[in-house]
This record gives sequence, C-alpha cells and structure tokens, in this order.
Amino acid sequence: MSQILDTLTRIEEESEKEIAAAATLSEIQAGRVRVLGKKGSLTRLLIAMKDLSSEERPVVGKAVNALKQRIQELIKQRTVELERQEQADRLKQERLDVTLPGRRTVRGRLHPITRIFHRVEGIFEGLGFHIAEGPEVEEDYYNFEALNIPPDHPARDMQDTFYITDDILLRTHTSPVQIRTMKSQDPPVRIIAPGKVYRCDADISHTPMFHQVEGLMVDRGITFGDLKGILEIFLHEMFGASTGIRFRPSFFPFTEPSAEVDIACLICGGGGCRVCKDSGWLEIMGAGMVDPAVFRMVGYDPEAVSGFAFGMGIERIAMLVYRIDDIRLFFENELRFLTQF
Ligand SMILES: [Zn+2]
Repeated sequence: MSQILDTLTRIEEESEKEIAAAATLSEIQAGRVRVLGKKGSLTRLLIAMKDLSSEERPVVGKAVNALKQRIQELIKQRTVELERQEQADRLKQERLDVTLPGRRTVRGRLHPITRIFHRVEGIFEGLGFHIAEGPEVEEDYYNFEALNIPPDHPARDMQDTFYITDDILLRTHTSPVQIRTMKSQDPPVRIIAPGKVYRCDADISHTPMFHQVEGLMVDRGITFGDLKGILEIFLHEMFGASTGIRFRPSFFPFTEPSAEVDIACLICGGGGCRVCKDSGWLEIMGAGMVDPAVFRMVGYDPEAVSGFAFGMGIERIAMLVYRIDDIRLFFENELRFLTQF
C-alpha cells in the first residue's frame, strides 16, 4: 500500500510541474491524457487497487480520488490562465493605431467624352430637343436603305462597315435613330441622338468605335435658316460667342441641300496653323435639309413637312475643346491623362 501512496505523491508532484509549465491549451490537454486518460498513470493505479486488501482499498481509493480532483482543478485553473493570456496576446496583435493618418481614396471623375456629351445634351435640351436612343446592333435597312442609301449606292463605300450578317451590322452612324423615331411618331419631331458608332478604321484621328450626336427637327415650314440659327446657337455656346462659323456646300444621301459646317480655327483664330492645315477653318459637322426620299420612306408627306438634320463626332469636339491631338488618348484609360479633366 505504501508503494501505491508513494506513486500517488510522485504523480501529484509531476502533474503540478507539468501543468504549471504548459504553455498552450494543447499541451495541457496532452498532460491530462497522460494522467487521467484511459491509459493514464492514475487510471492504471486504480486498476492496480484490485490487489489490495479490503481495509486498504478505501484508503487508497480516497487518496486517488482526492488527487484526481486536485489535478482536474489545476488543469481548469491553468486553462483559464492560458485562455486569458491568449486573448490578451490577440488583442495586442490586433490593436489599431487610431492616430495613424488615413489612406486617401482617389475621387472618380467623368471621362472627357462623357463631359462633352453632357454639355452638348444640355445645350440642345435648352433648345427644346429630346434625347432619343437606338440599338448599336442595327439592321441594314435602318442604317442605309431608309436613309436613301440603297445596296448599290456609292456612299456605302465611304463607310467601312462591320457586318454581322448580310442584313445585320454595327451602326456606322446614329442616323438610324432618326428613322426609328420618325417611324414611331408623327411630326413635329425635335430630337438629338447621342451614342456609339462603329467603323473599320484606326489611326491618329480614327478609332473603330467612336461617339456621335445627331439632331433632327421636323415640322411645317422648317427652313435652312432654322438649321443655321440652331447650329449657330449651339456652336457659340460650345466654343464661345465670338467663334466664326461658315457653311460649305456638300453632299449626303439623306439631306438635300447638304452642308459641311466649319468653325474658325480655335488655335490660330483664322490666321492659319498646323491644326487647321493653314486654312484658318476647322470642319466640325455635317448638316442639311432632310431629303424628301427619306420622308417618304418613313411615311411623312414631304409636301406638308420639312426638316433638317445634323451630325457630329464627339471625339472631334472634345479634341478641340481640350486641345488634344491624338484621338487614341480617349480610349487608353491612362490615368495621368484622364485626371486632367
Ligand atoms: Zn489654325
């Protein structure tokens, strides 16, 4: 019996040391298994008790149980200690220094093309025009045929078209929106159609996708004078009230008569420079009176109503307003360029 009691004392001493030295929760758990587990030293002792006499057995049993309770208590205490310490360590690690300066978030801004769109739309909305939109994937009929450009018309060679099928294409101009609008409503019409257009072309002044705004005004008694008046107001709002404007005769299949509209060179003021190729003028848009053939195509009576249409490239306007000489800058998404606006 005394041998067993000695062993108990040894187990107690060892366990006390081991538990006190445990640095992690898993180390405590391993210690618990070594003493109290199925094959633990204390459990083995309980099994050995069967060889004791009936007088000795209760004495030893009591001592074993007392030790078992004591070890369990020690484990509990150490576990609480370690848990507290772990939490403290974690809090220390996760501590935030609220006095550190914050990270500045970069403010987004509108792309120069979007800004020009907003300005153009604002000016025409002020003149009573509504904004109309149409599909970018368009039928050949709306893009060409209804605009007085039949399949064998030479004007189709002027535009390098992205065809999807024989009848479906990426629109080469926003003019199909005019056709769709006139087909869906009776005169009077007063719209602008801003949007993306596509042509198979890429160099310093052309990109395969670019932006246009077209305008259309149809009513009784609309004249070329109305066209000139509206465009003069627009161009003076856009480029300044003293900007010189001229109309040159031109040709488009869907307008008759047609004109190219120039403004006096913004760089040299008309004296001649590299940008205007020494002419003193910059081509800015095309315009004209809607061809009677187009009116007949959409079911309008060309004897009863008349109207004008105009169209311009937004990149061209943006390049002049912001003095940019390479159209590709608009599409490279270079932040050093974009943050200037
Ligand atoms: Zn010039």
